[in-house]
Amino acid sequence: MRDIIIVGGGASGLIAAAILARHGKEVTLLEHNDKIGRKILATGNGKCNFTNQFQEESCYRGEQPDYSWNLIQKYGPETFLSFLDTIGIVAKSKNGYYYPYSEQASTIVEALRLELIFRKVKVKCQEHVTDISPIDGGYSVATKGYAYEAKKVILACGGKATPVLGADGSGYELASKLGHTITPIFPALVGLKVDNKNKQKLAGIRIKADISLLISGQQVTLESGEIQFTAYGISGIPVFQISRYAAKALLSGEKVEVILSLLPDFTKDELLIYFEYQGVINAYKTILQTLQNLMDLRLAENILEYVGLQAKKRMDEIKIEELENLVSSIKEFRQRVTGTNGYEQAQVTGGGVNTQEINPETLESNYHKGIYITGELMDVDGTCGGYNLQWAFTSAYVAAMGALED
Ligand SMILES: Cc1cc2nc3c(=O)[nH]c(=O)nc-3n(C[C@H](O)[C@H](O)[C@H](O)COP(=O)(O)OP(=O)(O)OC[C@H]3O[C@@H](n4cnc5c(N)ncnc54)[C@H](O)[C@@H]3O)c2cc1C
Repeated sequence: MRDIIIVGGGASGLIAAAILARHGKEVTLLEHNDKIGRKILATGNGKCNFTNQFQEESCYRGEQPDYSWNLIQKYGPETFLSFLDTIGIVAKSKNGYYYPYSEQASTIVEALRLELIFRKVKVKCQEHVTDISPIDGGYSVATKGYAYEAKKVILACGGKATPVLGADGSGYELASKLGHTITPIFPALVGLKVDNKNKQKLAGIRIKADISLLISGQQVTLESGEIQFTAYGISGIPVFQISRYAAKALLSGEKVEVILSLLPDFTKDELLIYFEYQGVINAYKTILQTLQNLMDLRLAENILEYVGLQAKKRMDEIKIEELENLVSSIKEFRQRVTGTNGYEQAQVTGGGVNTQEINPETLESNYHKGIYITGELMDVDGTCGGYNLQWAFTSAYVAAMGALED
């Protein structure tokens, strides 16, 4: 019987395999894709943003956020960078966002692949694991055509995000069969669908904004950055960052809204003064022509429609109350969120194997000695910026160290 089977040749599985093999363990890694590390290749637009200098608890989310944060504090970016150093990866920081120096995700996958070959890890691709059951002295891990046996098993199957890269959610089934509960799962780091009837017209516009998320009328989070209007709604990094809260609230039937505060470089008073001044020095212009000085024409038209102001109205015909109303709407452009994009477009899965059922010291299952769970499969999701690969590393490291113990 081999020492350890790892189910899943993604970020956490490959790292756990490397660490265990270095410590002399006989490791077999089972991956249902035809190649290992396919999702890593897609990360950071192919450049692989693997961690971030800035770390705080809010970068890691889940029902028990302190669970992941406690581990990140012990085995965070420094430990990850040291590990990568040992496989020859030279890291490059861009404003605290870490990438391989080559800025190619394939550099990381290739370094891990060579490390596993050197350490004699048996990598079996096109092996879809369907069942894990306890046997005398360990576990039997069933694939379609074979049953592998090992003393210990690491479940590193990832979640459901971007199924074309191998994420079919089967890890949740394997964990459930072993008695684990799965907290509700949902797409995260994903675009939001909104009920703006003009969204088709707005598609393609990008604008700097603050975006707040309201759940049942209460603001839960605020992000800033470039928002992209799309045919379905809104996208962009700030939207991705709030999407997991929106998705979770929608799942439980709550009312979800976003308020876009456009033109964040100006206060309401500054905007009002600007419009009043334009009413004096460019009185002949229409409100649309004036608003167009500050934003894309299509967005300006949409906002005027939203506040019920005629686009053709001349600046010297507009009442102060109408300007106040316009400014309020620019600063509080409210839209109802009707849904999120699906797992096909999501970068990560929110929810997962309940962390209360996994030993926080070793990531060993509370129900089965010798079963370990890592990465996105757990109820941990990170924000954009390298936090998901950092979690994949940290969890792989802790599980591998745990699995080394007798
Ligand atoms: C487009 C995109 C861009 C991203 N960019 C970034 C980024 O820049 N920075 C960042 O930190 N994170 C990023 N992420 C998220 C990050 O890639 C994941 O969170 C991370 O890879 C999760 O690691 P994991 O080991 O848990 O799962 P995965 O890397 O998904 O690996 C799981 C592996 O298990 C295999 N598998 C699943 N079930 C079975 C089974 N039953 N039998 C056999 N094999 C199985 C899968 O094929 C897969 O290879 C991105 C994700 C996507 C989709």
